This record gives sequence, C-alpha cells and structure tokens, in this order.
Amino acid sequence: MNIYVDFDDCLCESGKFFSGLVREMFGLDVPYEKMQYFNLQQAFGLTDEQYRQLLVKGHEPELLLSYEETPGASGVINEWIRKGYDVSIITGRPYSSYEASRLWLDRHGMRDARMLIMDKYGRETAARKEDYILDPEDYYRMKFDYAVEDSPSAFRFFDHLPQLKVLVFDRPWNRTAELPDNYTRCRGWEEIRANAVAEDRH
Ligand SMILES: [Mg+2]
Repeated sequence: MNIYVDFDDCLCESGKFFSGLVREMFGLDVPYEKMQYFNLQQAFGLTDEQYRQLLVKGHEPELLLSYEETPGASGVINEWIRKGYDVSIITGRPYSSYEASRLWLDRHGMRDARMLIMDKYGRETAARKEDYILDPEDYYRMKFDYAVEDSPSAFRFFDHLPQLKVLVFDRPWNRTAELPDNYTRCRGWEEIRANAVAEDRH
C-alpha cells in the first residue's frame, strides 16, 4: 500500500498558527474557523507586502518548529510504517524549509517517515537538485493507493489516478469544494485511519 500524506494542516496545525501570527503581526482578527480560502493572502485579506512578510516570518525555522501536531497524526503514520506501507510525506513548503520540517517530524516521532518537497504551488523561482526535492515528472511516476490532503489547490495532482482514494482532511477552506466520488472527507486521524483500515480488509 502506497500512501501520500501532505504536511501542513494534515500533520500539523498550520492554519491555526497563521491565524495567530496574522493577529500578532498586523492586528487582524481572522479566527481559524473563518479561514475560507487556502491562499493565506485571500484568507486574511492581506496586501501583497503583508503576505510577503507573513510567508517569510511563518517559515522561520524556530516558528516552523513550534507548529502543533494534529492530534493522532504520528500514531497513524507510525502504524502504517510498521505495517509495511510505503508512506511519503509530500509537502509544498518552500525548499528552504527542508531542515526545519525534517527536524519537526523527527521531534514528533516521525523519524522513519520519508519527506519530499514538491513545488505544488509554483512558488519556487530557481531549480534546485537535492535528494529531498521531488520533480513533478518523478512524482507522476509514483503510484498511490491513498492520499491525505487538505488543499483544494493540490487536488489536481491526483487527477491522473482515478482509483486513488483521497482522504480530505476537513478544514474550513475546503468545505465548499465539490469532491469527486473517490474523495472522502475525514474529520481527523481516527477517521483517516478507519478509512484506510476498511479498505485494507477487502
Ligand atoms: Mg496542506
């Protein structure tokens, strides 16, 4: 069994973190539950300059390391790895956040989980070759049975796999997205786990 797992807002509470950071930096009060867009500039109504500052600040290593783990994430990831499933954490974070992201996983008990960075949202301006960077070309050669993802902007990366079971991590910014039949909304890791276990028995 091959499983794709997104990082932000699947393994950790990035949206809640950014809601707090925006309040701190710009005095804007947009609670997590009111974040209706995946794009943070839209979600918080920021100017281009505020958005730029927010992304720089939010990806500073010590702040990345402070993100809260989503309850149950490491337990399920490790259970899958123990069962011999092939788990790939594929994040769209900036390449520059690799070290801090890797360290966060290690500190949260996910030392054995593979993590790759793919430029999902076209943010990187320079090509780089590192072992942890996943070229879309290589990504499209990978096969997955399950994907755990929260971002409607990333769903297009599943279009070529009609058999894939996409487990959508329920977040305020994906509640209006129309989900195809192979997508299932999950309200946490217990539901994600139950969906994958149910399929395993078939
Ligand atoms: Mg995400």
